[in-house]
Amino acid sequence: MFQGLKIAVKQKKKLLVVFFITIFLPSVSLSIFGIKALRNEKFRLEKQIENEQLQIVKSIKGKIETKLTDIGEQLKNMASYPSFRQKDYPVIKELLRGLLEKDSLAGIVFLLYRNAEPLFPLFQSGFEENVGTSVVANDNSLQKQIKDAEDAEYIRNDYSGAVSIYNDAFLKSNNRSAKARLLNSVARNLMKSSKFSEAGDVFTSIINDYSGERTESGLPLELHAKLQKTECYSKLGDKSSSISNDLNVFEDLLTDRWILNENQFKTYASIVSERLTGLLSDNTGKSTENKSKFELYKERYQYKTELWQTINNIKSNIVPELSNYLQTNPFTSSPFKLSKRIGNEDYLISAVIIPGQNQQDKAGILAAKLNNRYLQNNILDNSIKEVQPPENTSLFITSLSGDSIRGFKNNTPDAITTTILFDDNFPPWRLEVTYVGRKGLGEISIFSNFYFWTIITLIIILVFGTALIVRIVAREMEILKIKSDFVSSVSHEFKTPLTSMKALTERLEKGKVTQPAKMKQYISIISHDIDRLIRLVGNILNFANIEEGKKVYKKEETDIAIWLKEVINNYKKESIESGVSISAEIEDDLPVLFIDKDAMTQAIFNLLDNAVKFSLGEKMVRVTVEKNENLIIIKVKDKGIGIENDEKDKIFEKFYRGNSAVKYYIKGTGLGLSLVKYTVEAHNGHIVIESEPGWSTVFTITLPISDKKQGGINDKKDSHY
Ligand code: ADP
Repeated sequence: MFQGLKIAVKQKKKLLVVFFITIFLPSVSLSIFGIKALRNEKFRLEKQIENEQLQIVKSIKGKIETKLTDIGEQLKNMASYPSFRQKDYPVIKELLRGLLEKDSLAGIVFLLYRNAEPLFPLFQSGFEENVGTSVVANDNSLQKQIKDAEDAEYIRNDYSGAVSIYNDAFLKSNNRSAKARLLNSVARNLMKSSKFSEAGDVFTSIINDYSGERTESGLPLELHAKLQKTECYSKLGDKSSSISNDLNVFEDLLTDRWILNENQFKTYASIVSERLTGLLSDNTGKSTENKSKFELYKERYQYKTELWQTINNIKSNIVPELSNYLQTNPFTSSPFKLSKRIGNEDYLISAVIIPGQNQQDKAGILAAKLNNRYLQNNILDNSIKEVQPPENTSLFITSLSGDSIRGFKNNTPDAITTTILFDDNFPPWRLEVTYVGRKGLGEISIFSNFYFWTIITLIIILVFGTALIVRIVAREMEILKIKSDFVSSVSHEFKTPLTSMKALTERLEKGKVTQPAKMKQYISIISHDIDRLIRLVGNILNFANIEEGKKVYKKEETDIAIWLKEVINNYKKESIESGVSISAEIEDDLPVLFIDKDAMTQAIFNLLDNAVKFSLGEKMVRVTVEKNENLIIIKVKDKGIGIENDEKDKIFEKFYRGNSAVKYYIKGTGLGLSLVKYTVEAHNGHIVIESEPGWSTVFTITLPISDKKQGGINDKKDSHY
């Protein structure tokens, strides 16, 4: 097999070299270039996508950072106002309010002066600039009067008496704070003496005329009066006034009407809230409107407490760092930033140093805790909207601690992703853009790519070329085998008669055969062998002629019956094999046909030879010839080994030798039947085969009988096949 392949490859060397140079080498090298180009193309596309992604994230980042720089600049401008250095709180408050109105990003603004507690001007924490003091009447007689009133009120429980003494003192006093507190005492005693309506009126005048005053303990008097007024209304059974008054107080508390510290705020807010819960518990009159108002206030209260919490967090976590900054860093007018995670929130602080008298001094720090909600819902979302990331990208923004801020993590494996962080992690976010093209990058770049189709074409050419070459080499191997089989079978065919002839002639030569009968027998055998050899050579020559297209059929008018009888008789005479019985049944009134007698004789001889050869035991051959309408039908039947169904077509191929022929070592060249077929078809006839393997075989030749005028095989005297 391997040897055969080697020879076949050698035979087709030229073709292989041509194939290798013209198809294989160019295809392979072009494919390699194509693949490289494809990879470059893919790489280029990836780079392009990465650049686009970088543009997207950079531009979102840029927009956000501009806003953050902006807020720093605003703080810087503000801090340069002398009011900050001079601690002019009312002006500071106004300025900061203006800042907040202009930019909602500055959530909580606070001040940190050297060696002082932090101040939250818009939330009052630590900003109680006019905390109440005990205002003592400087007038002795007034002091005595107050003492008398207190005796009446607390020792004697003479509330009416106390009222008139306090009233009197009120009229005499010319100190505003003292007057306010005296009025409060009047109202208190009126309440004690159950004169609620009058007490309410006094509280009203405190509210109207002395709103800025404070009690001895520093509480805003107005707040106290308002709370007490509700008390009066409820004592008088005026529920609706109680509700509206308390709602009013609640609103005042929420809008920071008074400067209160956290505890005060919480205490008064909870007093009012509890009272309102009780008052609004039944559904009457205007209660629905009031109830919804109350609900709204409660929400605002919740927000406010959270704000207190934030302020406390700033105080305990941010302020120490800022103080440190203030102590250790030299003066700079540039804004700076600080970010810190407290609880679940990132505290983003933008700050600037407040310059002192001398421009290089540091008076303090003005800082703003940025409003995260505004930063995300407004600034971030708007930036994304402005950038308009294309549809095939997915944006995912997280905090550095992993919380998702916008979008979803895209888990497509190997998807091109670009990630960016903010400078100084301010805000501490990670921006991630992933390519999520519908078809995936590979397909987009490949299927619309010229190189891809070139490679596919080259591969197809290569595959077909290789298949062709393999076929050619395989065919060559097959031909080589056929050739060698043919040569060996022809040699065998020649060898047997030649050996027998040699042996017989030697005996005759040496005079070993003396009896005339024996001599005659020897000569007959030799002549039979010669006939066999002539037939064999005839077969081969005919085959060669046919193959080269040189075969000429010399047709002549032939009486089929006479001719066939003669052929069969001749065959019988030639056949010296023992046990062969050939019978013939030939109709007498057969027409005359134009045939090449030699060629047709050779065909019939081949069929008879096969019939004898392939009958292993009993060699009974029967030839029948009949006329059927305008056909002559010649059948050669035997009772031999038969032919398998799957071989019935193949046996007419040149050089084909049946499996049984090989199996039973029956000699032959594989040319006999192919010659029969050529010859029959050259006479416009055809040959069919019926066989029962192991039992019998019948070859049927059908030749047409044609009218001369109509044309047919009889027309052709000589014809080339
Ligand atoms: P060869 O006889 O030299 O092998 P042929 O072309 O005459 O070649 O026949 C081809 C094959 O057909 C044979 O090898 C044999 O297997 C099969 N064959 C032909 N004639 C017969 C037959 N009468 N009975 C069985 N097999 C036959």
